[in-house]
Amino acid sequence: RRDGTEMVLSYAISEVTIKDERLLTCIFRDITNEQQASARFRTLFQRSGQPTLLFSDSGLIDCNQAAIDIYGLGSREAVLALNPADVATPLQYDGRSSAETAFEHLEPALRTGSHVFEWRHQRPSGEIWDAEVHLMAFQHKGKTLLQFSLQDITSRKKAEQALRESEERWKFALEGAGDGVWDWNIRTGHAVYSRRWKEMIGFAESEIENSASEWSDRVHPEDKPRVMMAIQDHIDGNTSSAMIEFRMRCKDGRWRWTLGRGMVVSRDSEGKAIRLVGTNTDITERKRAEADLRVAATAFESQEGMIITDIDQRILRINRACSEITGYSPEEAVGQTPRLFSSGRHDAAFYREMWASIEERGAWKGELWNRRKNGEVYPEWFSISAVKGEDGKVSHYVASFIDISQRKTAEDEIKHLAFYDPLTHLPNRRLLMDRLRHALIAGSRSDSSGALLFIDLDNFKTLNDTLGHGKGDLLLESVARRLTASIREEDTVARLGGDEFVVMLEGLSLNLNDAAAQVRLVGEKILQALNEHHDLAELSYHSTASIGITLFAHQTDTVDELLKRADLAMYQAKAAGRNTLRFFDPDMQAVVMARVALEADLREGLQQNHFALHFQPQVAADGSIVGAEALLRWAHPRRGMIPPLEFIPLAEETGLILPLGNWVLETACARLKVWAASANTAQLTLAVNVSARQFRHPDFVEQVLAVLERSGADPQRLELELTESLLLEDVEGVIAKMTALKVRGVCFSLDDFGTGYSSLSYLKRLPLDQLKIDQSFVRDVLTDPNDAAIARTIVALGQSMGLVVIAEGVETRQQRDFLAANGCSNYQGYLFGRPVPADEFEQLLNRA
Ligand code: C2E
Ligand code: MG
Ligand code: MG
Repeated sequence: RRDGTEMVLSYAISEVTIKDERLLTCIFRDITNEQQASARFRTLFQRSGQPTLLFSDSGLIDCNQAAIDIYGLGSREAVLALNPADVATPLQYDGRSSAETAFEHLEPALRTGSHVFEWRHQRPSGEIWDAEVHLMAFQHKGKTLLQFSLQDITSRKKAEQALRESEERWKFALEGAGDGVWDWNIRTGHAVYSRRWKEMIGFAESEIENSASEWSDRVHPEDKPRVMMAIQDHIDGNTSSAMIEFRMRCKDGRWRWTLGRGMVVSRDSEGKAIRLVGTNTDITERKRAEADLRVAATAFESQEGMIITDIDQRILRINRACSEITGYSPEEAVGQTPRLFSSGRHDAAFYREMWASIEERGAWKGELWNRRKNGEVYPEWFSISAVKGEDGKVSHYVASFIDISQRKTAEDEIKHLAFYDPLTHLPNRRLLMDRLRHALIAGSRSDSSGALLFIDLDNFKTLNDTLGHGKGDLLLESVARRLTASIREEDTVARLGGDEFVVMLEGLSLNLNDAAAQVRLVGEKILQALNEHHDLAELSYHSTASIGITLFAHQTDTVDELLKRADLAMYQAKAAGRNTLRFFDPDMQAVVMARVALEADLREGLQQNHFALHFQPQVAADGSIVGAEALLRWAHPRRGMIPPLEFIPLAEETGLILPLGNWVLETACARLKVWAASANTAQLTLAVNVSARQFRHPDFVEQVLAVLERSGADPQRLELELTESLLLEDVEGVIAKMTALKVRGVCFSLDDFGTGYSSLSYLKRLPLDQLKIDQSFVRDVLTDPNDAAIARTIVALGQSMGLVVIAEGVETRQQRDFLAANGCSNYQGYLFGRPVPADEFEQLLNRA
């Protein structure tokens, strides 16, 4: 760890596939705290009533209370402080020292895991006692541990001694003891068993025959060869006594473990054994405890859920983690089979295969869906291993598992890491590419285009080198925030790495020139946002960026190709002096540049007063001029007269329409004021075109009233021409504004009527004075029956609503007559006069 302490980790490495991409996940767990686990083991160990000592290769490492008692030393520490040599006090036993004897028994214990022998021991008080030692060897955390369990067999030893001294006395000496006693005449095959011996295997006094086959038939067939060999060895005089653990069949057919000891008590003159006497001790409980211990050593408590079952899959024990994961307490689980946890998601074949693997290889690992007590089904990483007893046979199954729904959460985090930039939390290159691919597919299906803006900060390296990476990171975070704020929610900002960002716009116009204009506005907005000072923790920093743009509409381009183009364009922006944007497509660039130039010209034109109003007469049914429409003209110093349709859309896009519209209003009102002074012109109305963007400005009403006020023009002579596009949104707001002006006397005309999609119900609610039949219908009114019908309908509609109907674009007498015949009252068009400067218009009036 960072603080220098060591820890133990458990690693689980697995493969996750996210969108066809293969990632390796490494999940690790701190398992240092397995002291808890050893605590579990200790409890078992402590509970044992037999004095037990635990050795590792470093010496005596633990002992239980019973051991403390037997040494009479009072405390565990005192026992642990004993010199190993003193643990086994070197006393003579069968002519050899205890230490020597102990060493001799070590080898078989290590080989088979367990071994029993006797030795003689001296208490600190000097008292000598006989012990039966159960030596067990097992592995724990890669170390071999040796466990010595001692059992005081002094009284039994004494009994055996007595037996040797007097054949007849043994019955009295032993009948009351816990051991069963037998006496076997080898020559005759006759055997005598004590009552306790018979009880031990479940028989009553009278039920057992006095024959040697009675016991030998009861020995477990697997144990029999060992038993026979041990007896033969002793009879042959190779051992001082026969002592062996084996299983015996009880009356009810079950097996009980016993420790059998036997000794030849008489031999003939040739030394051949005649009589063998001995005892059997029931050690079933001890065996079970040993197995428990072995299981405990294998299945140490951990954060993994653990289940221990017997050979029939009955749950013997579960650990705390298992309870936590499954929701079942040990009381609920013990005695059941693991089917308790089954989710029903796996079929019989699945479990069959699992058990086949356990049988064959002793283990199975895999993902398993189980069900918690609360019904929730969840995934586990499961492993089952078979635990074998000292006889090499499976005695238990140990299952361990982890709840991998947590791993799924980890996978989500990995997913975030895989798709988002950790510093700015913006999508990374991978996610951008993914979205771009989708956009290309979606774009080819819908009728819209998109754009990629490649943004690179200017001189970022200098900031990093001079002020450090900390400040650099702060700038990147600040840039990320501003980029996100500059775009719509449905667009994407990604960080490619370093100081490179990409913005992806979708849903742009399919007309690439229009799309280019839309993107340019976004690009400029971004440049401007990035140009503002950044607050980098006590440092106000000014930064600029260069942007390369490419448009995409169809799936004809690859994602990489698009990114490369945007990148190339970005270099052109750098080359052009930075803090600017460039399009990849030269034509697009030209269109955009032309617009940029036009915009600059517009601004200048406004300043230099290059604009003028022309006036076109509007006439009544009798041909008399009743008013005029003011039409805007731009007298460009180099390009000459520019018609309004070439610059009004751009003025609307850039917002320049606001000052321009205001100028038109002021000029028109000034003209009205002039007209009011002369009898010839005093009754004329003046129509002024108002664009939707201008009308929607929150201050529109106030501005019109202010202009009227300043100029002193009569509001009743002013007629505002609105278009149907205004009615596409917020009709209530439009009505409110119109009404506010209407009460001051201002009139309203609906221009280009018939080309839009106004709903008649709205139309009825608008405080209008006049409908203007669009010139497209007038043009073909004599040749196209549809146009004629529309024109007629508009006239009828206007009349029914009490509105004046005026036709625009009237060029011929026939058009006028047709319209007149259908009830149209007013006209405007070349037939009556072209739009002309004010002085010309006034001359025209005078002539009329
Ligand atoms: P509009 O308001 O429908 O204006 C009528 C257009 O028809 C004018 O074109 C006019 O010159 C033209 N016109 C008039 N009589 C005839 C005719 O007999 N035959 C033909 N073929 N055309 C005729 P102009 O002046 O080019 O204006 C075009 C449009 O620009 C206007 O359409 C109006 O929507 C807009 N516009 C003009 N001045 C302004 C202005 O001051 N503010 C705003 N927002 N828009 C304006
Ligand atoms: Mg008009
Ligand atoms: Mg019009």
